[in-house]
Amino acid sequence: MFRKLISYSNKIFDLFTAVASITDKRIKAQIPTVKIVAAIIIMHFTNQGSLNSFSQEIAFKKLKAYVPSVSTIARTADSMDLEEIRAVGLAIYKKARAKKMLKPCYGMWVGVVDGHEQITSAYCKCKYCKKRTVTRKDGVKDTQYYHEFTAFILAGPKVSFILDIEPILPGEGEITSAYRLIERVCKNYARAFSVVIGDGLYLKETVFNLLKSHHKYAIAVLKEERRQLFEEANRLSLLSEPQVYRKKKTYYRVWEHSIEGCWDGYGKRGKSHCFRRGYSRKGPFKRRQIF
Ligand SMILES: [Zn+2]
Repeated sequence: MFRKLISYSNKIFDLFTAVASITDKRIKAQIPTVKIVAAIIIMHFTNQGSLNSFSQEIAFKKLKAYVPSVSTIARTADSMDLEEIRAVGLAIYKKARAKKMLKPCYGMWVGVVDGHEQITSAYCKCKYCKKRTVTRKDGVKDTQYYHEFTAFILAGPKVSFILDIEPILPGEGEITSAYRLIERVCKNYARAFSVVIGDGLYLKETVFNLLKSHHKYAIAVLKEERRQLFEEANRLSLLSEPQVYRKKKTYYRVWEHSIEGCWDGYGKRGKSHCFRRGYSRKGPFKRRQIF
C-alpha cells in the first residue's frame, strides 16, 4: 500500500522531483532539504500525528539510520522557503485539475476559508505563539500557548484540496490573517474557484468587498449580531414562498431577495442576496446564510 502511494505520487504528480526544489536557510547543512521534506511527507502518508510519534514508529521499524532526527526536521522546517512550498502545491493542483481529479460542487467551484487551532502547550512557546489563560478543574489558572492559522480549501464532493494556509499571529484576529490568505489565493489560484464560503465571522463588508474586487462571490452565515441585516432577512422571508428541499435529516427553505442600504459600505446599489434556513426534524432553526 505504502509503495503504491509513493509510486502513484511520483507517477502522477512527480512529487519527489517537485519537492527537491525546496530550500531552507541552514548554513553548512549536512542533510539535504529534500530528505527532510520527504520525512515530513512520509509522516503524513503514514498518518502520524506528530514528529515524535513518527520517530517512535521509525525506531520500531529499525529505520532510524535513514531518517533525520526530530530536532533536525523541526529546525529545518522552521527555515524552509514558504514560496517554494506553495509552488509545489500549485504544481500539484494544476496536474490534479488537468487530470480531472477535482470535481466542482453542484457545478460551482467553491472555496472555503476558516480558522483552525493547531497545537497547544503549557511549556513550549515561540515568537509566533498566541497565549491565553485557562482555568483547571481545581481552579488554578494556567497560561496556555497555541498556534492558529486560517486555511483555504477548494471544496469538492469527494476530494477537498487545501490551496494555502496563513498563520494568525499573536495579537491578530482570524479575519486579518484570512485577508492575507484570500489575497494570495486569489492571485495564485485566480481561476480555481468562483465562490468563497465563510462562517459568521466573514460576514464583513471588507471581506465581501475584497472578494468582489477579485470577481468572486461570497457566502457567509448570517447571525443575529448583525441585527439590521438579520431583521431585514426575516422581513423579506415573509414576502414570498420559499423553495423547500431536504438533505438527509435537514429540511431547507430558500428565499431569493435583494437588499439595499442595510449594510454600510457594501451593496448600496441593489446586490442580489439569497437566504437559506435549515430545519432539522428535532429543532427548528439551524442556520442561515447570506449570498
Ligand atoms: Zn509557537
